[in-house]
Amino acid sequence: MQFHDSMISLVGNTPLVRLNSVTAGIQATVLAKVEYFNPGGSVKDRIALRMIEAAEESGALKPGGTIVEPTSGNTGVGLAIVAQQKGYKCIFVCPDKVSTDKINVLRAYGAEVVVCPTAVDPEHPDSYYNVSDRLVRETPGAWKPDQYSNPNNPLSHYHSTGPELWEQTEGRITHFVTGVGTGGTISGTGRYLKDASDGRVQVIGADPEGSVYSGGSGRPYLVEGVGEDFWPTAYDRTVADEIVAVSDKDSFQMTRRLAKEEGLLVGGSCGMAVVAALEVAARLGPDDVVVVLLPDSGRGYLSKIFNDEWMADYGFLEDSGPSARVGDVL
Ligand code: PMP
Repeated sequence: MQFHDSMISLVGNTPLVRLNSVTAGIQATVLAKVEYFNPGGSVKDRIALRMIEAAEESGALKPGGTIVEPTSGNTGVGLAIVAQQKGYKCIFVCPDKVSTDKINVLRAYGAEVVVCPTAVDPEHPDSYYNVSDRLVRETPGAWKPDQYSNPNNPLSHYHSTGPELWEQTEGRITHFVTGVGTGGTISGTGRYLKDASDGRVQVIGADPEGSVYSGGSGRPYLVEGVGEDFWPTAYDRTVADEIVAVSDKDSFQMTRRLAKEEGLLVGGSCGMAVVAALEVAARLGPDDVVVVLLPDSGRGYLSKIFNDEWMADYGFLEDSGPSARVGDVL
């Protein structure tokens, strides 16, 4: 009989799919690593599994324990699935700007969700950060993964995403492009590919305009899951060869093209990463193999990126100007 013991064994081993339409005029092969094939629908299942297993090994997470994390998105889903299968409880802390659909997904998996007001200072006792810290202190057997500082976030990619790409491309990958949020994906995957290729593979980060990684000050942008206004310790500053800043408009227009032209219904950070990948690929020749990682599905963004009114309100439907701006070489 062919079956998996549980959804946990389906984490990782996602497919590579060639982009055939948005790559018109480009000589290099551009391949997408489609992470929505993970059981929780995003790349974050990988880090959830490794962070939990490492905490079990170190004793930080004991049988029947409770996972407490400030997250509203993909990391929460990954943690909720792994926790449920392994018998842990989950409490997630979300700001009140998070959509009820996202909160309901976490609750559907059996997690408890505590919603905090957005309109208070980080120092306020009801802030997102303070509430999660208090829950960790007050809940017996609580453990906080903290994806921004947990070394098992990048390590999960060093041990899964990186080797998968090396094997899937038979070592022919020349460029790896990915969005940067916590920095876990680029740091772990990028480091593995550098090690496997003796430094030959070029690693390129894609970042929303305004975020610190591409030299911004933390100015707001609408692409979700990427960019920061601080430097997380999960991000290894020595891995990226280049960071490409991409506007919201270009990111969302490309996200819509991926659905219409490539059959890929993916999230906004995927469109952002593809804009950066095409910018890089346009400079390359027919022997180059560019892999771009697409972190999640477009299902979570139907009322935004895939909604004409929302796009028009922000002026994102008008013709695009010049696409990406290439940042400083790091
Ligand atoms: N895109 C989305 C939608 C995400 O949720 C994340 C994770 N925050 C990323 C991209 C970036 O991945 P990382 O945190 O590994 O840098």
